[in-house]
Amino acid sequence: MTIKLSDIRKIYTIGDSTVAALDGVNLHIRKGEFAAIMGPSGSGKSTLMNILGCLDRPTSGSYVLDNEEVAKLNDDDLAITRNKKIGFVFQNFNLLSRISALENVALPLIYAGVDRKTRLNRARELLNSVGLEKRMDHLPNELSGGQRQRVAIARALVNDPRIIMADEPTGNLDTKSSVEIMGLFGQLHKQGKTIILVTHEPDIAEYAERQLIVRDGKLVRDEVKGAESDV
Ligand code: ADP
Ligand code: ADP
Repeated sequence: MTIKLSDIRKIYTIGDSTVAALDGVNLHIRKGEFAAIMGPSGSGKSTLMNILGCLDRPTSGSYVLDNEEVAKLNDDDLAITRNKKIGFVFQNFNLLSRISALENVALPLIYAGVDRKTRLNRARELLNSVGLEKRMDHLPNELSGGQRQRVAIARALVNDPRIIMADEPTGNLDTKSSVEIMGLFGQLHKQGKTIILVTHEPDIAEYAERQLIVRDGKLVRDEVKGAESDV
């Protein structure tokens, strides 16, 4: 499982003006890497994550995911690739408020055509693995922020993706919960998952083994623990 971006551009046009949200990004992320993307507001982090996550397409350039050129996929195949290969974690958790933690985690398996009993067993197993065995039947608003994010991580894992993408996963959490959540990402990394996260917080980026900095749509720094290089 490898991610390879070559000369990726993303141009937005609003009226007569254009913005190069990404302006020639080259990036290779290997299987099992743990990378943090940083950069000022408006630098292109979300755009980069949307492209990496197959939620959006570049204006030009090549994105090869697992030996597959993403630009050549039609929208249905892009969605299939995304659901199979990538789990997403968001700043605002994005849980459904009217159903339990257990049902939230099991939900993606409905779309995968898995029967109810298997869905609930799988969801229980994942909630156990994130330390929420006693909270499975709670609604999201009966859980703390850190617990909600653990539910969201369990949900992201339900299809057993090899890549986890997280956009500001600790942005709404206190320090203690942030440390717990980053500990969970660390465990997933040890299990061999590829982890890519966007963060504003240097302390959070420190948990990753590789730090990427985006500025004005360009990758301006790529630093691996122990070694570093400007790009
Ligand atoms: P970041 O996540 O680092 O804050 P973004 O990727 O959201 O940066 O945005 C990068 C640039 O692209 C900004 O100038 C932003 O205004 C612009 N941009 C992002 N999305 C859109 C869009 N849908 N339409 C027009 N411009 C956009
Ligand atoms: P973030 O908090 O992740 O940086 P933003 O505030 O940059 O998010 O953007 C929020 C949403 O608005 C995103 O979907 C982004 O693509 C879109 N967006 C950002 N800038 C613009 C813009 N100038 N015009 C239109 N949409 C934009």
